[in-house]
Amino acid sequence: MFYDLHMHSCLSPCAEDEMTPNNICGMALVKGLELIAVTDHNSVKQLPAVAEVAAGMGLRMLYGCELETSEEVHVLGLFAKLDDAMSMQSWIDSVMPSISNDVDYFGKQEIMNAEDQLIGTEPRLLLVSLEASLEETIDAIHSHGGRAVLAHVLDRVNSVTRQLGFIPPGLDYDGLEIKSLEQKSRVLETHSWITEDSTEWFIDSDAHRLGDISEPENYMRESVFRRLWGDS
Ligand SMILES: [Zn+2]
Ligand SMILES: [Zn+2]
Repeated sequence: MFYDLHMHSCLSPCAEDEMTPNNICGMALVKGLELIAVTDHNSVKQLPAVAEVAAGMGLRMLYGCELETSEEVHVLGLFAKLDDAMSMQSWIDSVMPSISNDVDYFGKQEIMNAEDQLIGTEPRLLLVSLEASLEETIDAIHSHGGRAVLAHVLDRVNSVTRQLGFIPPGLDYDGLEIKSLEQKSRVLETHSWITEDSTEWFIDSDAHRLGDISEPENYMRESVFRRLWGDS
C-alpha cells in the first residue's frame, strides 16, 4: 500500500493552519495514499479526531508522534492502536519541560474535533527537547506498544547523524526514515553495521502543508506492515 507516515497537523506550531484532520485525510485520499500517520511534535492530542475522520473515509492509519530526545534527535513513535498512542501522552508529560508557547513567534498549537472545529489549544511549547535520552525514548515507545523510527536520518537538523555523528550500533530502533533511495545508499556506505535487510526503510513527506503530503510513490508490503504492527 502507498503510505506516508510522517506529517504534521495544525497542533504542531510549525505546520500550516490548513493541516486539519479533514484536510489531511482528504488530501491523502486525493493523492492516492492508503496508509497515513499524523506525527505531531511531542503530542498525540490531535489523533482522536484524525482517527475518526480517517475511519469515516476508509483510510488506514497508524497513530503517531514525533518525539525530540534530550540529544535533540527526532524519533517517530508509530502505534497500531489509538489507545496505545494516547497512553504515550502521560509519559510525554512526565519528561516535557513546561515552557509557554509564544503563539506569535512559534505559531498556533490547535486541537480539532472530527468536524475541524477548534476544541482546544496546547499551552506548552511543543518544539522542545524531552528530558529523555534517545534510548529511553525508544524504550518508552516500545513499552507503550509502538514502533520507533529514527526520523529524517540524514537531515541537517534534528537527525541522529547530525546530533550524534552516526547511527549508534545496537540502538533498538525498528526503522530508518530517509528522503530518497540515494540516502539509503549513503547510510549503508557509512554504517558497516547496518545492512539493507537489518531494518525497515521509510520514505515520508514530513509535510507541514497539504501540498507536501506524499504522492503515491512509496509502497509498503502488507507483510512488512503485519510484521511491525500485527493484524490491525
Ligand atoms: Zn523532525
Ligand atoms: Zn516532522
